Amino acid sequence: MTNILSREKTGEGSIIIGKLDDFLNYARLSALWPMQFGLACCAIEMMGAWSSAYDIDRMGVIPRASPRQSDVIIIAGTVTFKMADRIRRLYEQMPEPRYVISMGSCSNCGGPYWEHGYHVVKGVDRIIPVDVYVPGCPPRPEALIGGFLQLQEKIRKESLLTPPKAVQRLMNPAIIDNQQPAEV
Ligand code: SF4
Repeated sequence: MTNILSREKTGEGSIIIGKLDDFLNYARLSALWPMQFGLACCAIEMMGAWSSAYDIDRMGVIPRASPRQSDVIIIAGTVTFKMADRIRRLYEQMPEPRYVISMGSCSNCGGPYWEHGYHVVKGVDRIIPVDVYVPGCPPRPEALIGGFLQLQEKIRKESLLTPPKAVQRLMNPAIIDNQQPAEV
């Protein structure tokens, strides 16, 4: 916080001057609430990140039991085709801005099932957009904490006051001239 804000003492009190984006981003990255959700062995390591040894709570990462109250979903485990629909549905129930951490080889690219696993999606990014990839089989809790640090850096550079590109496109749609023949 101190590196993004300048402090100026005025008598006994003080005022803090900063950009609204910086204040909003600081609040958001300090309270990332992931959805309580796990798929396979990687989820055990994910749970370990909340144990007293790692205490990821101290970073404001507190799990929530509903996608409607969650900022981030951690895809921890093997993504089977059977679960793909459920993952997509949960993701779409999360409010914007929402983030995805892909934890482990299975979620990143199919893991040990990448070649012969007919039932496994070869990367969760085929069904939802991923913000941070955490490598490993399984990644240790420290690696997941590293993933959250990366996500925090990403959020720090965002601007909530500028609409995302998808919204900008809706506000200023490209005009298509139907009279012109389509280029082949
Ligand atoms: S990446 Fe390894 S540890 Fe994680 S779910 Fe797949 S097989 Fe299990």
